[in-house]
Amino acid sequence: MEKSVVVQQQGGVPLRFAGVSKTFAGRAGPVEALLPTTLEVAAGEFVCLLGPSGCGKSTLLSLVAGLEVPSSGSITAGGRPVQGPGADRVLLFQDAALFPWLDVQGNVAFGLRQQGVPAAQRAARAQELIELVNLKGFERSFVHQLSGGMRQRVAIARALAIEPAVLLMDEPFGALDALTRDRMHSELETIWRATGKTVLFVTHNVREAIALGDRVLVMSPRPGRIVREFRVSLPRPRSLEDHALVDLAREILAVLYQKAG
Ligand code: ADP
Ligand code: MG
Repeated sequence: MEKSVVVQQQGGVPLRFAGVSKTFAGRAGPVEALLPTTLEVAAGEFVCLLGPSGCGKSTLLSLVAGLEVPSSGSITAGGRPVQGPGADRVLLFQDAALFPWLDVQGNVAFGLRQQGVPAAQRAARAQELIELVNLKGFERSFVHQLSGGMRQRVAIARALAIEPAVLLMDEPFGALDALTRDRMHSELETIWRATGKTVLFVTHNVREAIALGDRVLVMSPRPGRIVREFRVSLPRPRSLEDHALVDLAREILAVLYQKAG
């Protein structure tokens, strides 16, 4: 079900990781959350980071978001060094963390208000994004009136409102039921196509990674690192039940079990 929403948005930018590592000072000594990682992500590419809990997925996203500082190496986004949080990179979590005192329209327009965008322009941009995420008719609904999937769609629209170049998604659909998750996959793909953003998407769900990614980077814990890379050339939109997808999932699972064992 392809939609042809035209959205005037800045597209994605490339990301470059040069020897980026992160070691935390843990109670029982240093924790190597991420070993030196060198990686290039193309502008507009959809890259999934896949791995078990504790392998450094969130750490990697936090480094790109500028919420953590690398222990070594450097990251650039669109050629500019990441030196802290910026509106060009936005992080989305499992918990949509919307503002309960604002309705859908207010949540989506929130960042624009912060940026001093005039009211009429705010409303127009918010409306366009509300339609992009299929929430037309819910502009005046409050967070408690929305389902989990709808909340995540509001969170995505709110993130897009500030026109980031990079979307950093940390297990965003992890709390959703299987049917809603399927639907969110196809919606996210539509949104990604319409906006051309660069996406780093973290998941521990193998099929989810393959359904969405141009590339799947498989990570392994202790010490956290990228152990394998799979380029996914299956045609889009992809079905979780597709034979080729299931075959690839089996192959990737074998790598995950081997590295975990
Ligand atoms: P994932 O998202 O893949 O589950 P994380 O990136 O959250 O993994 O964590 C990787 C490792 O780093 C884990 O061992 C975790 O306990 C550790 N870690 C993460 N953040 C911190 C922190 N702020 N302080 C100390 N250790 C941390
Ligand atoms: Mg995590």
